[in-house]
Amino acid sequence: MNISDKIKELQENLPCGVKLVAVSKTHSIGSIEQAYACGQRIFGENKVQELSEKYAALPKDIEWHFIGHLQSNKVKYLAPFVSLIHGVDSLKLLAAINKEAYKNNRAIDCLLQFHIATESSKFGLSLGEARNILESTDYKTFRNVNIVGVMGMGTFTNNIVQTTQEFKALGNIFKILKAEYFADSPNFAEVSMGMSGDYQIAIDHGATMVRIGSTIFGHRSYC
Ligand SMILES: *Cc1c(COP(=O)(O)O)cnc(C)c1O
Repeated sequence: MNISDKIKELQENLPCGVKLVAVSKTHSIGSIEQAYACGQRIFGENKVQELSEKYAALPKDIEWHFIGHLQSNKVKYLAPFVSLIHGVDSLKLLAAINKEAYKNNRAIDCLLQFHIATESSKFGLSLGEARNILESTDYKTFRNVNIVGVMGMGTFTNNIVQTTQEFKALGNIFKILKAEYFADSPNFAEVSMGMSGDYQIAIDHGATMVRIGSTIFGHRSYC
């Protein structure tokens, strides 16, 4: 199947309320244009340089999501245009986003990334670390970031039981944070989980955003 067919199939099969982030990292401008022609408007990238180049080259009604590990000193390149930063995993990074968003006279939507996988290589907060951020005096002064939900990556495994547990855990973290800190914030609504190999499980356990790359665009030669 080509890119257009894949996008159409996903658009038809994803439940309404679940947003599709088409993960276009490593793929060409031409591939993104094919998905765009089918109505896809949300694209995810994990490298600052690559995202900036694609932003410059492509239509301005695309919502660009940054899904990678973001270094504080690179936030300035994304701050003028990024729609959502999925991987916020420290107060330092959140402070940098707030500062750069302020310079651009805007507020930037962010997700807190949680470590739900068994792989230690994956980034993310624990619930306690997230509470420390949300209760910090610094955070309370931030006017230019909106935390709109949570994000996580499951373990790379075929073990459905394990993946299910990890996604349930992220769903629980979302509910706890919602109750403790965001009960009055309707914007805190997103659970970003699920990739090509596990998005069905993620949807079954409350994902509102799935990040799908290789199913749409084919295999990547590097990542
Ligand atoms: C690459 C990537 C994806 C997409 O992975 P696929 O398996 O190609 O669907 C999703 N989320 C993050 C954070 C990624 O880096």
